Amino acid sequence: MPRFGGKVSYPRMEDYWQRQRDYLLSISRAMTARLDLPSLLQLIIGKAVEMLRGQAGLIGLLGRDKNFHIRASSGLPAHTPQLFAPLLTNIPLHGSHWPLPDLYTRLRLVAASAGINLRQVVGLPLTLEEKLIGIIYVFRTRDSAFSADDRQVLSSFADQAAIAVRNATLYQQLSEEKRRVEAIIENSADGVLILDSACHIQAMNRALAEITGWTEDQARGQPCWHVIALRNAQGRNLCETGCPLDNLGKAEKLQVEGDIIRADGHRTGVSITYSPLHDEEGTLVSIIGNVHDVTRFREAEEMKAMFISVISHELKTPVALIKGYASTLRREDAHWDETTVHESLEIIEEESDRLHRLIDNLLEASRIQAGTLRLEMSDLSLPKLATKTVERFRVQASKHELQLDFPTGFPPVLGDQERLQEVFSNLISNAIKYSPDGGTIRVGGRAYHDHVELYVSDSGPGIPLEKQPELFEPFYRVDTGLGRRTQGVGLGLFLCKAIVEGHGGSIWVESSPGQGSTFRFTLPLR
Ligand code: ADP
Repeated sequence: MPRFGGKVSYPRMEDYWQRQRDYLLSISRAMTARLDLPSLLQLIIGKAVEMLRGQAGLIGLLGRDKNFHIRASSGLPAHTPQLFAPLLTNIPLHGSHWPLPDLYTRLRLVAASAGINLRQVVGLPLTLEEKLIGIIYVFRTRDSAFSADDRQVLSSFADQAAIAVRNATLYQQLSEEKRRVEAIIENSADGVLILDSACHIQAMNRALAEITGWTEDQARGQPCWHVIALRNAQGRNLCETGCPLDNLGKAEKLQVEGDIIRADGHRTGVSITYSPLHDEEGTLVSIIGNVHDVTRFREAEEMKAMFISVISHELKTPVALIKGYASTLRREDAHWDETTVHESLEIIEEESDRLHRLIDNLLEASRIQAGTLRLEMSDLSLPKLATKTVERFRVQASKHELQLDFPTGFPPVLGDQERLQEVFSNLISNAIKYSPDGGTIRVGGRAYHDHVELYVSDSGPGIPLEKQPELFEPFYRVDTGLGRRTQGVGLGLFLCKAIVEGHGGSIWVESSPGQGSTFRFTLPLR
């Protein structure tokens, strides 16, 4: 018997409970500190078995499929846990049926199929806010039965364990959700930017890194006006003239448009939508920016405007001429001599041809942009095609010397005859048009082992280097006196490029002012 009040010679009951409380507390601390679910479950089952002086145990958690699945075990041979499934089926989801009435029948079944000597079992539900989230079982291989005290200890332990499991599960869900959101942001085609309340960059995605030329690591912690530096059409830095975010205030969203210019000079037109994120007290926590590349949209808008102006200008001139000559000819009060009638009709015919060509080009350009340009392929001789085209131009090019330069034995090429003739025709007509003082125009080609290279060169004024990249854009015309004086809508080279690329080749220009221009294109050999 323990003696009270005197000298203690062996452990008192209070000490025993104290030690047990300390032990439970230390386990509970260890459990709450662990947020990785598998290792937490391992800790729980290990400690439960140890506390109840058992030899084995397992934890089953309720899955999304409303069934229990073994998630951790202790003291069971590696391949056996699935044999314990009978202990996890037909589990009452509400607490009143515990302990399970047929627990021992189930235990015998499981022990026999697993070939393990399990004699005693205690099973307790893991419940949270009266909802069953799992089951914990501890087994003994000896006969000594689990006592009411054992059950009591396991029960208070199970409550702690359930809280820890819930926390770890929530943490896991949160981490998964975070990874999912990060993946969505990272792979979004739009740029995404997260700013803190002082407008310093906390995160940005790959698309924005591409637009700004800053890597996420370089940008993190930088003020947004360093990285974004939004400029207006005149090149003025909008962030310097007044931070657009000053207008955000309590507004739900703010949209700003401008250009982002990378260090290498690459310019991207963007529309940025900023949305503030406030905490429960209404304090601004972060600002999310969605950066949408509007370059294509702007190009389409510019193209539309250009299209309308070109159409109105280029169509109006021939229509006005045709109408003028036609009305003059049909005046009933006048008698025209044969020469005047002939010349007038000639002008009407020429202007109708011009209209026809223009409409054809516009139709072709719209087909190219819609991706419906079809090529009719056949074997053809490019020297023949070039010669035929040059002959057609000889009459108009009275000031020019037209030369052909093809080696003998030039290989046949698979291509669309009509369209390739159009390429030669556009290049030769430009060579004539843009060298008004005459000179030599050379049309030729060379064959290589897997492709042929064709060229049209002139000795005109040439094209400044900085204008060359845009030459092949639709409706682009170099804004020089010569360009303004010559007829054209800026579609010829665009059509040439689409046709050549449709054949699997490429086209470029070599030119410097005063040195003439050479347009070259390649076509693959089979
Ligand atoms: P267009 O001749 O109808 O204007 P193109 O697309 O054929 O349209 O040519 C685009 C622009 O490229 C022309 O307006 C002209 O400024 C320039 N260009 C084309 N070919 C030459 C050339 N051989 N020499 C000088 N400039 C040229």
